[in-house]
Amino acid sequence: MPLLARMLTAPLQVEVSAGAISSLNELLAACRISREGQVAVVVGPGMGCEVVAALGDQIDPARIIHVERGSVDEAAELATRLNQESVDAVVGIGGGRTLDVTKFAATRLGLPMVAVATNLAHDGIASPVSVLQHGSSRRSYGVAAPAAVMVDLDFVARAPLRFVRSGVGDVVSNISAIADWRLAHEIMGEPIDGVAVALASTAAEAVVAQSGTTTGMPFLMCLAQSLILSGIAMSAAGTSRPCSGACHEISHALDHLGSGDSMHGEQVGVGAMFATFLRGDHSRVDQLAEVFRRHGLAITPAELGISPERFVEAVLYGPSTRPDRFTILEHLQLDAQSVGAAYSEYLERFG
Ligand SMILES: [Zn+2]
Repeated sequence: MPLLARMLTAPLQVEVSAGAISSLNELLAACRISREGQVAVVVGPGMGCEVVAALGDQIDPARIIHVERGSVDEAAELATRLNQESVDAVVGIGGGRTLDVTKFAATRLGLPMVAVATNLAHDGIASPVSVLQHGSSRRSYGVAAPAAVMVDLDFVARAPLRFVRSGVGDVVSNISAIADWRLAHEIMGEPIDGVAVALASTAAEAVVAQSGTTTGMPFLMCLAQSLILSGIAMSAAGTSRPCSGACHEISHALDHLGSGDSMHGEQVGVGAMFATFLRGDHSRVDQLAEVFRRHGLAITPAELGISPERFVEAVLYGPSTRPDRFTILEHLQLDAQSVGAAYSEYLERFG
């Protein structure tokens, strides 16, 4: 008899709550992640000391490893150390860099990895992707998704407000990424995965519809769960497609060309706005502008300190950052003049 359903890769357990870190051992036991109890905990530089304090006596202090660079070399060094110490499971506690270094090292050794997020800056919490520094550039690597995911909202609430805003930009950009995917399906015949679309789109729409304040617990809970759903959408699709389109191409181009100190989600938020504007979907772009304004995100490059010339350059360079991805940018085949004209129209509406 055929199986009338498909198997989806998803975390064994998801826990989003204030003070979640204090129940880490319960989660490890419930998931039976460690057979021998040889668990290493990797913490980052930001809230490392507070994290260690919140762990209490759950973890042997000798098994706590500090990382800080977020590079592929550091991830390789971590894998070597975990291997030498005969660890059978690894927990990464911190922000994106710490989780990405830990995911990469755990994948290299085939170890189960638990992600404990202390901020909501992007959708890497539960995703099968690590973004790591490689030489002078940042690269995305396919890795195993975390076996279990925790978000400690106490830490999230204490992180800089910009981190929350960045998470809002990253998850809401799914709306633009999915519009790009639908376009690629229509024009190029690229297969589209309705399950991944449903997960990524619902995650974004939930954040759009959540009317709470940016720092209120109901909103942070919704944002955390939506970022986790985005990660599961990527696992379901086997690619970052449901969460990354022209919005991300523009952001990657800004990273490449140099864009100051904007965060990933701040850049993709502006990228999603401009891509939606290029698609001519004016009611949607007004809705995105309203949500971003409500949560204090930038809606123009100038608000991120990016000059008009640099932004136009990034839109033109965007397609070369993901040569295999068809989005509104590849579809319109814009030249410098047409991007400049579209940008002027955009500023007339939102500047
Ligand atoms: Zn992203």
